[in-house]
Amino acid sequence: MPYENERATGDSLWRLEDNPSVKNFKGSIRVRDTQTELELPTRIYPERGRRSTKWIIGIDGSTVTKRVQNGFPKAEAALFNAAAILIDIAELSKFGGDYIPRPQQLRDLETVETMGAVLPGPNVVGMNPGEETPKKFFRSTIRQELNFRLDPQHESLLETFLALTPEDDKKLKCPIEDCDEDIFRPRSNTICACDQAEPLYPTDSLRTHERFYDNNSSEQAFTAFRMATEHLLLVNILRYFHQNKPLRWFDEIAFVMDGPLAIFGMPAWLKEHIQTDISRIHNDLIGKGHAGLLLIGIEKSGEFLDHLEELDWDSSEGARQRLPNGTTFAPTTKHVFRHIRPNPDSDKAYGEAVNYGRKILYKNNAGQHAVVMTPIVNEAGREPNGTDLIAFPRLGEALNIVDDLYTHLYRDGFIPLVRANAHAAIPLRRGQQILANLFEDNA
Ligand SMILES: [Zn+2]
Repeated sequence: MPYENERATGDSLWRLEDNPSVKNFKGSIRVRDTQTELELPTRIYPERGRRSTKWIIGIDGSTVTKRVQNGFPKAEAALFNAAAILIDIAELSKFGGDYIPRPQQLRDLETVETMGAVLPGPNVVGMNPGEETPKKFFRSTIRQELNFRLDPQHESLLETFLALTPEDDKKLKCPIEDCDEDIFRPRSNTICACDQAEPLYPTDSLRTHERFYDNNSSEQAFTAFRMATEHLLLVNILRYFHQNKPLRWFDEIAFVMDGPLAIFGMPAWLKEHIQTDISRIHNDLIGKGHAGLLLIGIEKSGEFLDHLEELDWDSSEGARQRLPNGTTFAPTTKHVFRHIRPNPDSDKAYGEAVNYGRKILYKNNAGQHAVVMTPIVNEAGREPNGTDLIAFPRLGEALNIVDDLYTHLYRDGFIPLVRANAHAAIPLRRGQQILANLFEDNA
């Protein structure tokens, strides 16, 4: 017997089915043929022996939108938090894969804050000049927040951003209200000819404010800021090690992003520059006889995981019975366009505008499913239908990490590791010199 509202849903669906527009729509869409045996993506066999990772640096960000009590209706702000966490693999492995933090330990998590910021939303203005409207206040806040410096001796996020993005002739619409000028991407605080009194900021070129709405939720602007900041934080940390520490440290540290190696939306243009800088670091390491960069992005949901589930379906045995444990697929652009994201075959790589990594579908040694990304660092990685192992730097080691940390990475993410107050994890807070002292004993 269905619940009351279930029946209501059923009824309205039935009425929709009868609607002529719905019938026409059904006749006009291409349906994927799921009857024939599913074509498998290219299977690859990365070398799995090497286990040299001693540390993981995990990066994980979030935003939560809250109402603001300032006397104006629908006033909102977003609490942004990015955690960069250093995990000692030897300590972590003591807990075993099924370790679940206890509630008391979870409460300790509330004190974790690596980079925290409050981003003003609709109907919230500041008290200083340049903060008179919600959008102006949002822009000036972003400019301020990117002064964040993880290590006092190292670049701020803004300095990393400027170093990644050399001066070019690309333009954006002047962010000042009523101005129709296109301006060059500002390199410092400056002004537009339209209004000499109102500042422009270098962070305006991230264009997050273009999704900021004075009279509506600004979720998209907050998300764009979070994404740009998480990836800048990653590159900032990579540059820290590359500039300050012996290159062999890279052989023993894995960098793990909670989420894909991709930047979506207004700041997506940054991805090209991030890809270039990551390749530069990786190829410098390789050129000097090191293993290169061990960097992975972990996807916890989405159509690639769904697709893997479908590939692993056995018509007589059921779910997760078709593929042997350890199966590793490198889906090509052709495969993605045919089976995951409908698109005509083309020479342009899937996700070229947003992804700085390539996706791998993986069934781990315990039969669990994972979608991981490794960075694009060479010609082989850029090749839309290429599946040479060299396109996926240190993939074997990346998959070892997925095997060892599956439960933590997929069920909990990084923040619970810190919340759990496990001695394994140390949050990298503003101004602390933890990175400098890592490997103290063998530096
Ligand atoms: Zn202007």
